[in-house]
Amino acid sequence: MIEQLSEGFFEIFQDGTFQKMDPSRLENVDQDESLGKYSSALGIDPLLIRFNGKIILLDPGLGWGLDHKSSYQNTSSVVTNLDIFEIRPEEVDLVILSHLHYDHIAGCTYVDNNFKTIATFPNARYIVHKDEWIHALNQAGSKNDKKGATYNLDEFYKLVAENRVDFFDQDFYSPVSGITVMKTGGHSPGHTIVKIREETGISYFMGDLVPTEYHLNHYAMKQIDWDPVQSKKAKKWILTMASEQNATIFFYHSLFRKSGLISQNKKNQFLLMEPRKK
Ligand SMILES: [Zn+2]
Repeated sequence: MIEQLSEGFFEIFQDGTFQKMDPSRLENVDQDESLGKYSSALGIDPLLIRFNGKIILLDPGLGWGLDHKSSYQNTSSVVTNLDIFEIRPEEVDLVILSHLHYDHIAGCTYVDNNFKTIATFPNARYIVHKDEWIHALNQAGSKNDKKGATYNLDEFYKLVAENRVDFFDQDFYSPVSGITVMKTGGHSPGHTIVKIREETGISYFMGDLVPTEYHLNHYAMKQIDWDPVQSKKAKKWILTMASEQNATIFFYHSLFRKSGLISQNKKNQFLLMEPRKK
């Protein structure tokens, strides 16, 4: 069973910082003093999979409101999201990270009342592609001229030091039967997406390869993606395959349509339809 979680709507500024955003601002973007000029709006939507007795999270978000004395504690976070499904953080078995940009991994940890960095999911293994880790290490501290994409590994180092992280180096890796992590590269050198094969059909979590519905037929990531050519190739490959499989795809950053069945029309445009009934 797949459930899409949500931390809500955020405004991302040119320096890579995030701020929670009132979604009603999307109705008046033309008059907005910031949106579309100095910032963009995006959703942060982790995925919860309950599968073969395992509880798996894909990209646990910004961890908004998780830190001790955070001023955002009355907001939805990955932990309050799980609570809706009566899942405690200790019960999560596996956290799969599409890549290591801050907005996809910050929820892996929080800061407690002793200012210590703690793993949000204390019994989980965290998995990420080895190429992503090497790239992130090389990028951390060096000036990055890519917009939007930032690495901040300070807290993630702690998870690595505590031996909670598994790095894999295959192009296709199956940590649990029925779930395959597939390397796409492009957005970042070790970027991956996740394929989930259930009895009811196939689903894909697209990470930042296709962050929103808009990106299905528009390539607007040139200044953001590490390797735009590889991104375009991987996107075409995955979306064509997903269309042929009548698969459901899930977006991480969408504002409106967050998932749907994918198909391709005669003009080779990708279309998104209502999600499959459960
Ligand atoms: Zn990213």
